[in-house]
Order: sequence, then C-alpha cells, then structure tokens
Amino acid sequence: MKNRITELFNIDYPLIQAGMIWCSGWELASAVSNAGGLGIIGSGSMYPEILDEHVRKCKAATDKPFAVNLPMLYPDIDKHIETIIKHEVPIVFTSAGNPKTWTKHLQDHGIKVVHVVSGVKFAKKSEEAGVDAIVAEGFEAGGHNGRDETTTFCLIPMVREAVSIPVIAAGGIGSGAGMLAAMNLGADAVQIGSRFVASNESSAHKNFKDTVVDAKEGDTILTLKEITPVRLIKNAFYNKVVEAYKAGEKVEALVTLLGRGRAKKGMFEGDLEEGELEIGQVSGLINEIKPAAEIVEEIITDYRKCLQAQNTEKFNF
Ligand code: NDP
Ligand code: NDP
Repeated sequence: MKNRITELFNIDYPLIQAGMIWCSGWELASAVSNAGGLGIIGSGSMYPEILDEHVRKCKAATDKPFAVNLPMLYPDIDKHIETIIKHEVPIVFTSAGNPKTWTKHLQDHGIKVVHVVSGVKFAKKSEEAGVDAIVAEGFEAGGHNGRDETTTFCLIPMVREAVSIPVIAAGGIGSGAGMLAAMNLGADAVQIGSRFVASNESSAHKNFKDTVVDAKEGDTILTLKEITPVRLIKNAFYNKVVEAYKAGEKVEALVTLLGRGRAKKGMFEGDLEEGELEIGQVSGLINEIKPAAEIVEEIITDYRKCLQAQNTEKFNF
C-alpha cells in the first residue's frame, strides 16, 4: 500500500490510531506503529513531565514513526511544544484551535503537521496555514467534535472537493469495510479511535473498555454543545446534563455541573456513573478487547477482502 499518506509519514498502511486523552499513551502508540500504522500519543491529558516520559518510552519501544496529538486548548501548550521539538517527534496532529498558530514553528523544526477539522471552512483554513494534511472528523466520532453534526459520509467528499492536500477520514470507522468506504469517498487514509480504546495496550480503565465492548447502537450522544461538543456514553452524569437542559439552565450552570476532571474519572479511573465516557458511535460494532497489532492486522485483512469483493455481481450491475 503506497499512497500520499504512507509516503508522507513513512508507514506501511494508511491507518492512523487517533490521539485520545487517557487512552492513548506510549504503549498503544508504539504498538500501532510497530504493526505498520501510525500510533499517536494523546497529550491533552498529560502534564508536561508525563508527556516527556511517554515520548521517551515510545521512542524506546519503536523505531517506526509515531505522532503526538496536541489539543490547542491545552493550558501548558508551550511546554508540550518544547518536549516535542526536544525529542524530535516526527509528526504532530493539532486539534481544537487555529492551525496558523503553531504549524510553521513545528515545520521549521522538520516536523510534519496535521490539523483536525470537522468542516469545510476549517479544512480550507488549515490548507492556507500550510499543514501537510488534515483529519476530517465526522459526527460519529467520540470525544470532542464539531457543532454542525456533519456525518463522515457527507464530510469527506465535501472536504475532498475543497482542498488538495491529503485528507484523513475519521469518525465511525472501525473495520476494513469502513476504511474502504472512506477511501472510496475520497480519503487518503483513515484515523481510528474507538476500536483502539478496546485494546490491551490502551491506558483506559478496564471498566471503560468493558463498557465500550457492551455498548450498543444508540448508547452514545453528542452533547454539551454550549461548552465544547463531546460524544459520550449516556450514564448517570449524562442524565444530570439532561435534567439541567430540562430545567433551562444557562451555560454557567452546565460548566459547574461538568466540573473538572470528569474525563479522567470515567475513562482512566473507571467511574462509570459520574465520569465522562468519551467514545464514538462505532462502539456498537466493537465486541472484543484484543492486542493493537491484531486490530491493525484484522482491519487491513478485512480491507483487502472487501476490495476484492467489489469485483462481484453485487457491484457490477
Ligand atoms: P472558538 O470557536 O472560539 O475558536 C477559537 C479560534 O480558533 C477562532 O479563531 C477559530 O476560528 C479558530 N478555530 C477553532 N477551531 C478550529 C479548527 N478546528 N481549525 C481551524 N481554526 C479553528 O473555540 P473552540 O476552540 O472552543 O472551538 C472551536 C471549534 O472546534 C468548535 O466547533 C469545536 O467543536 C471544535 N473542536 C474540535 C476538536 C477536534 O479535535 N476535532 C476538539 C475541540 C473543539 P474562526 O474565528 O474562523 O471561527
Ligand atoms: P478538565 O479541565 O476537566 O481537566 C483537566 C484534566 O487534564 C485533569 O484531569 C488533569 O489531570 C489533566 N491535565 C493534564 N495536564 C494538565 C495541565 N497542565 N493543567 C491542568 N490539567 C492538566 O479537562 P478535560 O479532562 O475535559 O480535557 C483535558 C484536555 O484534553 C484538554 O486540553 C482538552 O482540550 C483535551 N481533550 C481533547 C479531546 C479530543 O477529542 N482531542 C477530548 C477531550 C479533551 P489531574 O486530574 O490529574 O490534575
């Protein structure tokens, strides 16, 4: 498999593991990179010294390229940037902010920059800012998400038309069939998050991994758009959000209800009632926790099988 993304990142497969707070540390990122994809350390939940440690451990665990995801909302972003440059991390995925802010600085240090967007406007803005590629993330995705609710199925062709740089599709993809569909819509690669939460190497709490495996269609929802839109599993905390909406509460009350550290509580500490459980709609298709390398292999095998199956009567009508 040689295409614009495998060449840009120097990887075997155009399959990227999403940077996910509390779930994707060095263990998951290095396992995915060793399996031929691109592993990403999610730095949004890491204090500066923690990111430093994860980058060092990742470099020791793989000699393949890996990346760091940098949400621009992160309070100590300058320190994270220093760590990334000091350790010569080859690729950075920025998200939730303006791509003009850091792209040139990182590229001047030889780092490839990819920006995450959820719509056409920001896709164009990212291209103008000079990023090397974009991730276009649809409504199905877990965690932080766009406000416009554009599904991956609609977003990818629209973004494809709007920019000429490589497009990485994200949101709702967890299988080879999904990967092939996204490539057919115009993507050059896919970014997969939820499927890797339910992996042996993910740093998520066992309770959260089991919840992802048990999740069915309809169990997740995109909420808290007034603060930062987030897709999560409906639980006791979410029921409190619903009550707050019913009572006509204002943004300040929602911010107070959300409080601080709910994502850690849910995903890292395993509090299934009071924590935020951020996961995508594709969780309804995930039935087993397994090693990350097996997930990569399964997706690529499935992708190739689906590609061959397209040459059958069903498609040649
Ligand atoms: P604002 O909407 O107040 O935006 C702050 C500034 O950053 C604005 O100048 C805005 O540009 C710009 N900006 C914001 N996001 C992007 C982006 N993805 N690409 C390019 N420029 C961007 O603040 P927030 O950061 O709270 O939220 C902005 C949007 O990003 C929301 O729609 C949110 O849902 C989404 N988001 C996406 C995440 C992801 O990782 N996919 C994570 C968190 C948020 P302008 O003035 O042109 O609007
Ligand atoms: P909160 O404000 O609720 O809590 C901050 C959390 O981040 C705490 O659990 C804290 O750990 C940890 N943390 C790590 N480094 C720092 C630091 N330098 N200063 C303060 N806290 C730090 O935020 P969230 O948990 O909702 O989000 C954390 C980050 O992850 C944000 O940057 C956010 O933008 C990003 N994010 C990205 C998502 C994505 O889709 N890309 C999804 C959700 C969040 P402790 O409790 O140990 O103090």
